[in-house]
Amino acid sequence: MKRERIYLCLAHLSGKEQKFISEALNTNWVVPIGPNVDAFEADLEAFVGDGRKVVALASGTAALHLALVASGVGEGDEVLAQTFSFCASSNPIKYVGARPVFIDSEKETWNISSELLEEAIRERERKTGRRPKAAVIVDIYGMPAKMKEIVEICDRYGVIMIEDAANAMGSRYEGRMCGTFGRYGVLSFNGNKMITTSGGGALICRDEEAKREIMFYATQAREAYPYYQHEKIGYNYRMSNICAGIGRGQMTVAEEHIEHHKKVCRLYRELLEEVEGIKLHENPDERYDSNYWLSTITMEEGVRVKGEERAYGEKVEGAVGGAAGVVHEGGGLHTECEPNRNVEAMRMALDEAGIESRPLWKPMHRQPVYAKMPSYVNGVSEELFRKGLCLPSGPYVREEDVRYIVENIKANIIR
Ligand SMILES: *Cc1c(COP(=O)(O)O)cnc(C)c1O
Repeated sequence: MKRERIYLCLAHLSGKEQKFISEALNTNWVVPIGPNVDAFEADLEAFVGDGRKVVALASGTAALHLALVASGVGEGDEVLAQTFSFCASSNPIKYVGARPVFIDSEKETWNISSELLEEAIRERERKTGRRPKAAVIVDIYGMPAKMKEIVEICDRYGVIMIEDAANAMGSRYEGRMCGTFGRYGVLSFNGNKMITTSGGGALICRDEEAKREIMFYATQAREAYPYYQHEKIGYNYRMSNICAGIGRGQMTVAEEHIEHHKKVCRLYRELLEEVEGIKLHENPDERYDSNYWLSTITMEEGVRVKGEERAYGEKVEGAVGGAAGVVHEGGGLHTECEPNRNVEAMRMALDEAGIESRPLWKPMHRQPVYAKMPSYVNGVSEELFRKGLCLPSGPYVREEDVRYIVENIKANIIR
């Protein structure tokens, strides 16, 4: 039987998107404001709760960029950033001319270590005479960070906390929605996230005033004059009314998507329980309620996998990531920091069986582009990167697919 390829997380439409897009087209609302944008923001505000206000933007990356701008981060400032994340968590720190200071993770949630966070704040102050201005805290793969400790530290040292909840729409910590723990919270609606607007994001703000400030910066920072008057540098980052139409449709299935991701994770847990040397990443205790955007595993180095001798034998075509677009060619077979051979062999074996899997994030402090930035590390993120894989988890992944994936994992382990 020929199988469809099983992907990590494909966009899944509700069927309602068409109606909202058509309304926008029929009423000529094709600009980055309009009824869909207003309604989508209202839907998001209802979803995140806590009286928070939400601005729909062109991407999660843009949302993070504007959060830094509105926080007054600029040239000469330092910003603490979780090293174990996608580059979009730290790149905007460079966009504003500030310096990222990378912080390693703790083992329970895989997110920023509160011990290292505090150590870094103290040491940066000793070394530079100033405290870091802000911290970008990530809820990686949907798992909430240790918010109680992190919020306390950021408050105590006067560091502005920005929560990158791009993976964590609908995740909760002690009952509270991810994205509402900092001064700002970032959501992403890229094609592979919990919901999509084809491409888009949002910034969760504390109140209407903060929301208006973000909207000002997102629409080229125009002052109130009959002509274009600019006192600040602005950006063209607003979400279009067409994309917001997709978002409105997606909001009707957001809860369903979240439940589905959780169900897939429960099934992986059941099926992987007996597999020695492989561990599924799960909520550390009942305070955590991950949306399990991606189910992730780590594999011990001692596990022998078929085809290890072929791992890293051939150069890969293109790059990882659904929207990778144009990539640089001419990479080598190896870098100084890469997943273990058994992990790469498993990835290749699954690929041959029509299953997409992917290594965990490569820590930013090991990325050549960030090699010169200060970092506070404990080995956790590098170990995760060496041992880990993301498994298919999205709305199109069926129960039988999860069974097929786990069968293939087992079949490729040499006992
Ligand atoms: C996807 C993602 C972003 C960026 O969102 P875009 O909408 O793709 O710009 C930021 N942080 C993390 C952790 C992400 O996974």
